[in-house]
Amino acid sequence: MKCHFLLPRIIIPFGYGLCIYIISTSFAYALDEFNILNLAASEKVNGVLLEILVTQPLQYDIVADQNQTVNINFFEGKLDTAFFNAQKVPDLMTWIKAYQFKNSAQLSFRIRRPFVSFTHLLIDHPPRIQVSLLQEIMPGDSVESASVDSLPDKKGMMNDPIDLIVIDPGHGGEDSGAVGKNGLLEKEITLDIANRLSQLLKKDREFEVILTRDKDVLIPLEERAEIANQKQADIFISIHANSSKKRSARGCETYFLSAAKNDEARAAAALENSSIRFERVENQSWNPEDLEFMLMDLVQSEFLLESSDLAGMIQNRLKNELSVPGRGINQAGFVVLSKAYMPAVLVETAFISNQKEEALLMQSSFLQKTALAIFGSIKEFKTKYESNK
Ligand SMILES: [Zn+2]
Repeated sequence: MKCHFLLPRIIIPFGYGLCIYIISTSFAYALDEFNILNLAASEKVNGVLLEILVTQPLQYDIVADQNQTVNINFFEGKLDTAFFNAQKVPDLMTWIKAYQFKNSAQLSFRIRRPFVSFTHLLIDHPPRIQVSLLQEIMPGDSVESASVDSLPDKKGMMNDPIDLIVIDPGHGGEDSGAVGKNGLLEKEITLDIANRLSQLLKKDREFEVILTRDKDVLIPLEERAEIANQKQADIFISIHANSSKKRSARGCETYFLSAAKNDEARAAAALENSSIRFERVENQSWNPEDLEFMLMDLVQSEFLLESSDLAGMIQNRLKNELSVPGRGINQAGFVVLSKAYMPAVLVETAFISNQKEEALLMQSSFLQKTALAIFGSIKEFKTKYESNK
């Protein structure tokens, strides 16, 4: 169905691979003759990561069939068919087949659980091709599919009191975020709401608050989550205002991290991820366009259920308390959420691109209501998950 040519694209994190099936580690014998050496497959919560070890960068194309079969053709590829065909097939596959042709070679796999999309990448050190097959997941079905041994230490998460909240005001510095027709800057709105929320939480005396920024500066997206990880925060909330080319688009929306389910969610994530273009090149380990293909490790999916629950609570209150329509909870690949190892959500309070809503975002009463709605949801979440022990 799909055909791609040698296009190095994203780097996929796989630090916490669950079940790594190394088909063989003894491939040194083949170095002289073969240039396709070995294959490893690891199961992620939302997909499968295939890695094909090669001796040098090879030109290849990938054809997927019926969302279960993957054929990788290597131009000038040479492989040991006997070696590949004799290997034990990993549990996540039905079969592996290897073919040697005159000027090319092919590896074919059938994956047990259908995938919805895939992406691939040629990596240099050591030379290998990574293929990510993204499978659909729902909140809640993550943990069963994982091996318990590889669970990272969850100490400090949902079992402790939920009292350390990281608030992330979107954008900042040279990254203004979305800009309204009347000149309103998203980065100012997000900081304003974050400060209000922070005050509400501090006044409550049950919470400690960390802001990823408290002034007009640019903090790289991944660093924002890292702040929360280092402090072992209990909740991470990123605050934004939405924007669309469609001036009529309006309403509030709350996101948690997952593969984008529709074009609008994809557009929202692309917009927020585009903040990356303001960051220094060495900070960028993502290509924002590829985020929707991100394979998720258990350490993140562990909080999928809590994140979707928190998103639901926030969305409910926003919808009830703000004078803008509710657009529901949604999922998409936001870089800022992708590294947060705790329940993490992103709030799009209203559309700065919509003139009526831009006017609302200019009113302090609207910003206060937004902060109150999020505050109420954090309290609700705390009550629910602390009594759930
Ligand atoms: Zn934003």
